Amino acid sequence: MVSSPKSLAETPVTALKGVGPKSAERLHKLGIENVQDLLFHLPTRYQDRTRIVPIGSLRPGDQAVIQGEVELADIRYGRRRSLMVRLADGTGHIMLRFFHFSNAQKDNMRRGSWLRCFGEVRNGPQSYELVHPEVERVAEGEPAEVEQALTPIYPTTEGMHQLTWRDLTGRALDLLGQGGLQELLPDKVLAQHDMPPLADAVRLLHRPPPDQSQQLLSEAGHPAQRRLALEELLAHQLSLRVLRQRQRRKGAPALRGDGGLQQALLNSLPFELTAAQQRVADQLRKDLAQRHPAQRLVQGDVGSGKTIVAALAALMGVEAGYQVALMAPTELLAEQHLRNFSNWLAPLGVEVGWLSGRHKGKRREATLAALRDGSIQVAVGTHALFQDDVAFDRLGLVVVDEQHRFGVHQRLALREKGGGNQVPHQLVMTATPIPRTLAMTAYADLDLSVIDELPPGRTPVSTVVVADARRDQVVERVALACRDGRQAYWVCTLIEESEALQCQAAEDTAAALTEALEGLRVGLVHGRLKAADKEAVMASFKAGDIDLLVATTVIEVGVDVPSASLMVIENAERLGLSQLHQLRGRVGRGAQQSHCVLMYHPPLGQVAQERLAVMRETNDGFEIARRDLEIRGPGEVLGTRQTGEMQFRIADLLRDQELVPGVQALADQLLVEHPESVAPLMHRWIGHKVQYADV
Ligand code: ADP
Ligand code: MG
Repeated sequence: MVSSPKSLAETPVTALKGVGPKSAERLHKLGIENVQDLLFHLPTRYQDRTRIVPIGSLRPGDQAVIQGEVELADIRYGRRRSLMVRLADGTGHIMLRFFHFSNAQKDNMRRGSWLRCFGEVRNGPQSYELVHPEVERVAEGEPAEVEQALTPIYPTTEGMHQLTWRDLTGRALDLLGQGGLQELLPDKVLAQHDMPPLADAVRLLHRPPPDQSQQLLSEAGHPAQRRLALEELLAHQLSLRVLRQRQRRKGAPALRGDGGLQQALLNSLPFELTAAQQRVADQLRKDLAQRHPAQRLVQGDVGSGKTIVAALAALMGVEAGYQVALMAPTELLAEQHLRNFSNWLAPLGVEVGWLSGRHKGKRREATLAALRDGSIQVAVGTHALFQDDVAFDRLGLVVVDEQHRFGVHQRLALREKGGGNQVPHQLVMTATPIPRTLAMTAYADLDLSVIDELPPGRTPVSTVVVADARRDQVVERVALACRDGRQAYWVCTLIEESEALQCQAAEDTAAALTEALEGLRVGLVHGRLKAADKEAVMASFKAGDIDLLVATTVIEVGVDVPSASLMVIENAERLGLSQLHQLRGRVGRGAQQSHCVLMYHPPLGQVAQERLAVMRETNDGFEIARRDLEIRGPGEVLGTRQTGEMQFRIADLLRDQELVPGVQALADQLLVEHPESVAPLMHRWIGHKVQYADV
């Protein structure tokens, strides 16, 4: 190219004829600012108006252009007055049904007229029907004048009609013809993957010629669609890789101890590590001994024993003379970790400290001072640990538990606490198993370890689903279990966002159950209790002094009371699969058979039914995650939907899963062979959005 045309990414949509401030505002709502954005705004489906379909070959659900003669037209007076028109073309006949029509329209469709219609075929009472089709009067035998390309249907917003979209994208395609959309994938790569150049792919998707498979297009399996999805996934992959490289260039303290404290902890435990725990602990030992920061994600199903692995990692830091921070997403979980870590580490002479958002004034000052001078060796807390005024003396390792509760940003913010050019090692743990392809995309900046084994002697939780009309029976069941010396949870869920209302509901339920379960000890825990009260309730539940613990979903993550063996969840239909799995994971931690009762309020929608069925069928967190992904999509599964971090314009992590391994290889190749393409690719697809690469 001699003089390169103006980049379409820098050409605002207002440069297109017909786009004034009002349309620009509407486009802005869809995130479309420039001509490139407009070109990446792809149709979600296509209509085939390129040929006239014989009426006899129509099937329900088809959208088609038909042409024929009116055999009959009359007004029917059923529940609603309607105009029924019978159209025939020699291969068959079909009814056109109109609930609203003018006299002129009616006249137009008199017996003997020839019509061309477009609409969707439905099953009618007597024959197939088109309800309110688009209708055009034609002359008998008039040669078919049809569209030359499949008709694109765009995702839209109020005030933007499909014709407007076609018009706008038409103008954008004209500009595309003059260049301005730089090809960023090397020819060799395109050839390797058998994919069209970017500009061709974009043009095809906006105006597919009639010979293109409509089915392939509507399933987004067309090479042109895959070409774009691939490029977008690649850009995300690259941004996380670049981030990772930058991190690796930073120094980290090599945490090499003599293993004495770790051995002492292992000796004090009443159990042996599972082979999987052992393996992950070994991986961590290697990671932490490096001079660049470890960035590892440890996945392990609920109850697989991640906490002890975290404690071993913490001791690697302490043995080497560094501080370790352990962050949990809720106060309740942080408190439990504090208890565990104190029990495990204090006898070894390790100073364990504690910081939560509730600490104020003198107490907080004292803790901050002890973090600063290094006298606290292991700090346990909530995100309060990473507020600006918290400084460490020698922070060597950060452990984040239940990482799915934190976004990429928070994860990155933690890395900054090391100060200077040194960053602490980072270990994140999650019980939300993420299908591998998804994990490879979402956590491309992390190494993965999986604790894929549960401690021995666990029996799978058996789960039943019951309507809340049978609540009395459920209460009876709780009574029986508790009188038999078992412990139970009763989880209240409320649709209201307000924490106050949720807590109120839990209080009411606790009161009602106390009355119904005379003689049994009922405890209550929710987010609004004072820390000390919560602590006291959890401690007496753990000690067996409470039979039934009524709770809000605060107990969702991490809570570990192995003797509890019955879990009742109210309004289970309101919760997502992973949340249910987490909650259910509070039981089944001891050797006795555990049960889970999922109560729902009828009627159950299709999706809710599916979800509850999955819970009944399996206890396997990975399987549940896979099903969750199918039912809800990746954004929900990753918990990033609100933050928009993993939102793609074109790619769909579920649909395009099988592209992911290729994307990884391609990222490697590009970083080595075409480093010059990396920044423009990231800029094109991630741009101003989340600058993970710049952190
Ligand atoms: P999670 O992976 O859900 O965080 P926890 O770390 O809370 O699991 O561990 C669940 C329970 O299993 C705890 O009571 C813990 O003490 C126990 N546990 C952990 N590892 C083992 C093991 N190897 N053998 C027996 N029990 C174990
Ligand atoms: Mg845990």
